[in-house]
Amino acid sequence: MCIRDSFAFEYLRRTRQPGESFVLKDVALSAHPGDWRGPMKSYAEWCHQVWAFRAPSSLRGVVNMIAAGWGQSPLFRDGAYRTDFIQPRCDCIELMSWWEWSELGPWRTPWDQLEARLGEATYNRYRPYFVEDPVTGKTMYPINRGDYDGYNQRWGGLPAFQEAVKAYRGMGPLVTLYTDPILACDNSRCGQQWGKLWGIVQPNGEYSTNYESWNMCHEVAEYRQYVADTMRRVMQETDADGIRLDEYGHGGAACFSTLHKHTFAEPGCTEWLRCIAETTRMVPLLRSARQKTSSSSSSAKLAPPTKRSEPPVSE
Ligand SMILES: [Zn+2]
Repeated sequence: MCIRDSFAFEYLRRTRQPGESFVLKDVALSAHPGDWRGPMKSYAEWCHQVWAFRAPSSLRGVVNMIAAGWGQSPLFRDGAYRTDFIQPRCDCIELMSWWEWSELGPWRTPWDQLEARLGEATYNRYRPYFVEDPVTGKTMYPINRGDYDGYNQRWGGLPAFQEAVKAYRGMGPLVTLYTDPILACDNSRCGQQWGKLWGIVQPNGEYSTNYESWNMCHEVAEYRQYVADTMRRVMQETDADGIRLDEYGHGGAACFSTLHKHTFAEPGCTEWLRCIAETTRMVPLLRSARQKTSSSSSSAKLAPPTKRSEPPVSE
């Protein structure tokens, strides 16, 4: 038996201008003998005809992926980039807060006004991220996501970071960089320039400000391009093996902003994952597999390895 019809597996709102039509895709429903394995095999064969499959990722053999540089445990200490977080079973090290930190607290707030600005509960929750700079001793804010540049001039800037990346790779693991392009901190140029314009607006008309940042609407084509351009630049500058785009796995939010144009969703609907998929396609996330370099060829100024590795602070 075979039933021919049409239906959609997506959101249902389609506004049509007078005279415009919209027809759903043709489908055929039919019964098959046996269990699910037969149709899944047919489906897999069909997929391989339709899409070009990617080569196996260089993350394939990675079992232990360790995060370093969070909160009160920065990447730099005693005049050098640390190495103690790379232990024998570390297959991949993910570096955090490798970009230039902010001298002000969230929302560009001076430190002495921050508790009043955030309220006691949020202030206390964020205390792990008010960090003494390991060179100057000044309190800074290391989760000012948005620009992903600067590379902490106080620690030697980009040249020192490049050497650290090279040296970490020489010690064994893949070297990847943490980012979260859902967020644009108000302390970043990105947040200043585009936070209000491209930020997600909730049904009540207020901005979405999770993690004390602007939450950026990925329906905005220009923002998707900004993310792609920024990540490409970071990969080129740092020579890291890969980048993680944090928060790209969740369902996102419906955005009610009237200040920007949405690519996919009509008002009141969300096509968040389509926007995320579109962005991800534009970003070079992983460098193709390459020959590992030897640590002896690196001249990075690095701390000697120690036995103990501090656990990362999770946000
Ligand atoms: Zn939006």
